[in-house]
Amino acid sequence: MSILRLAIPSPLRRLFDYLPPADLDPAQIASLRPGQRLRVPFGKRVVTGYLTAVLAHTDTPADSLRAALELLDPAPLLDPHLPELADWAAAYYHHPPGEVYSALFPRRLRQGHAHQRLGEPGWRLTARGRGLPAGALQRSPQQARALALLQADARNVAALQAEGISTGVLRALRDKELAEKCTLPAAAAPARSRQGLALNGEQADVLERLLQRREGFSCHLLEGVTGSGKTEVYLQLIADCLARGRQALVLIPEIGLTAQTLGRFRERFEARIEVLHSGLGEAQRYRAWEAARDGSAHIVIGTRSAVFAPLAAPGLIIVDEEHDASYKQQDGFRYSARDVAVKRAQLLGCPALLGSATPSLESVHNTETGRYEHHALTRRAASAALPQVQIMDVRASALHGGLSTGLVDALGECLGAGRQALLFLNRRGYAPTLQCHDCGWVAGCESCDARLTVHRRRGELRCHHCGAVRPLPTTCSHCHSPQLATTGLGTEQVEGALRQRFPRHPVFRVDSDSMQGRDSMATLVEEINRGEPCILLGTQMLAKGHHFPAVALVAVVDADAMLFSADFRGEERMAQLLTQVSGRAGRAGTPGRVLIQTHYPDHPLLQALVDSDYHTQARELLRARQANGLPPCGQLLVVRSDCADGAAAEAFLVALRGAVEAAAPAGTTLIGPLPSPMQRRAGKFRSQLLLYAPHRRAAQAAAHRLVSAAEAQAAPRGLKWSIDIDPQDLF
Ligand code: ADP
Ligand code: ZN
Ligand code: ZN
Repeated sequence: MSILRLAIPSPLRRLFDYLPPADLDPAQIASLRPGQRLRVPFGKRVVTGYLTAVLAHTDTPADSLRAALELLDPAPLLDPHLPELADWAAAYYHHPPGEVYSALFPRRLRQGHAHQRLGEPGWRLTARGRGLPAGALQRSPQQARALALLQADARNVAALQAEGISTGVLRALRDKELAEKCTLPAAAAPARSRQGLALNGEQADVLERLLQRREGFSCHLLEGVTGSGKTEVYLQLIADCLARGRQALVLIPEIGLTAQTLGRFRERFEARIEVLHSGLGEAQRYRAWEAARDGSAHIVIGTRSAVFAPLAAPGLIIVDEEHDASYKQQDGFRYSARDVAVKRAQLLGCPALLGSATPSLESVHNTETGRYEHHALTRRAASAALPQVQIMDVRASALHGGLSTGLVDALGECLGAGRQALLFLNRRGYAPTLQCHDCGWVAGCESCDARLTVHRRRGELRCHHCGAVRPLPTTCSHCHSPQLATTGLGTEQVEGALRQRFPRHPVFRVDSDSMQGRDSMATLVEEINRGEPCILLGTQMLAKGHHFPAVALVAVVDADAMLFSADFRGEERMAQLLTQVSGRAGRAGTPGRVLIQTHYPDHPLLQALVDSDYHTQARELLRARQANGLPPCGQLLVVRSDCADGAAAEAFLVALRGAVEAAAPAGTTLIGPLPSPMQRRAGKFRSQLLLYAPHRRAAQAAAHRLVSAAEAQAAPRGLKWSIDIDPQDLF
């Protein structure tokens, strides 16, 4: 007897056994492979399940064993390592396997539709056209030429265009019923690369070492200061990969970066480049997925979820800005795309290259333990020097819309010299607080432990945590006084101050309020790269990875907001953000300048930015983590619960702790339950139970116990719990 073990999309952390569909013969059953889709009954529904294994027997009692209804994929769509990666991810992240397998497929296939190959539009001759004697159509040489070409073989539209055959000529042949449109299999044309830049000594060394390791698995961290030419190294490494007939997968952190990255790749490669990110429509997404799968795409560039893109002939995986927190999914299937990428490269037997100017302490740690090879680029590739960083003590100086006189002067100077300036403020809206001057009332969210942000232009108060919106009040809701005042700064307010101060220069605000449309970021980047003097003002959307050659001055409007964080990663994040923001200055030619406004000029993190560099800071921060057994020098996991009833959320974790405590693996420490830093969010009270472990094995054993105990435990209605392995934020 053959048993099919399937992953079924459901919240259950287990697999389900089925009998094969009745119409499959033994030979067909023997050829089944993991990843093939089947239609199966599940409870009262019919769903798409994914084969994980074929077994000889099952513990499921015969009378409750049901048969699968239909095999949806006659042959596996995925190469065998992807199901293996899914099995690993489901086990490591303790996530329901059905949901993990679902992440491997575009929606159309998840819904159980038949797989369709992509075709390309083309032309072929009709029977009548094929029967025409050579030398026909003498009076129309163009038509005769098209006929002769198609006589040899059907051609796709692009190939016909390349031969100089116009659509009009083809239409004329169609009207004579000599040729017709058709769909041709997507051509996997060889990719071509244009000549790269002449590498400097450091770049050449790094490339050479990477090329030596191009076969088999190895993992590399490329730590290169901002503007040191990491991207150029990626491009030349990819050129080698394509020349060997392999595909390259490139992960980037944000959709906003795709246009810029894509532009550079298109310039360099005559190749099919597909993009995968959450902003795509369903049909586009399917095309990109299928082109990656059938091998017609040479390069796949994508955000987090692209780490699961199928690849016909993978040869290289690159994770750019590998430190970026957006690689970690924060809900549902809480995976780290960076870590999954490394695991995938290992299963595939190809190299993984992680790159950043400010690598995560995880990756730095991995280079110290010898798991990753370290490569450094210490100098900027195109310009003389890294920018000068200057701390501006704003104590006792008058600020107008957040701008000190010193900053205003520097901006004037920069614009006067025909250059661009970039201001960073990580808070959108007009002001983070609305307060009554008479009684002290503060506008707060009804569903969260949070203040409402003033959005003056829209005339609204908004909660940035649950999305609640209210009209901006004119009187205090407590004492009805009209004396309402805002405190604190948001981008909208600074934008106003800048427009007032520099009326003749454009001010571009870049935050999630102003960048709503799908292409607004791409349009703006184009505008900025025309190089006219202007001021850019934005949140971290603007600080990431962008290459703005004309920016000469960078200013951090309010560094104080970032200096005091409760999270153990606070200092690392701050050092990364400040280094990245600073790195936007002076990227081409002229040296840049960085100004940091603060009330704490002596703060060690700010001093380090001036006196030291990220490389040194990261190693110091790592020593501190080591001393405290914190990640990455120890393992952390967290179980969260949320419930409208706060006592119930906490009680669930208290009971869970009680259930696992006695049998917790040696060396592990349980902490909590503790209320989350923002205890109430969107009407739910949130608690968390933390577990520290000395190494992965202990953490995995503990996670296993916690999950089994939580699943066995009765939970009140409306309570939700989740486990997060390697959490990025404790929230
Ligand atoms: P990173 O990715 O490290 O931030 P980039 O690859 O964007 O750096 O390079 C920064 C700038 O330096 C770009 O304008 C790039 O064209 C230029 N550049 C990179 N490598 C070289 C080189 N070998 N010679 C000249 N210019 C270079
Ligand atoms: Zn009041
Ligand atoms: Zn809220």
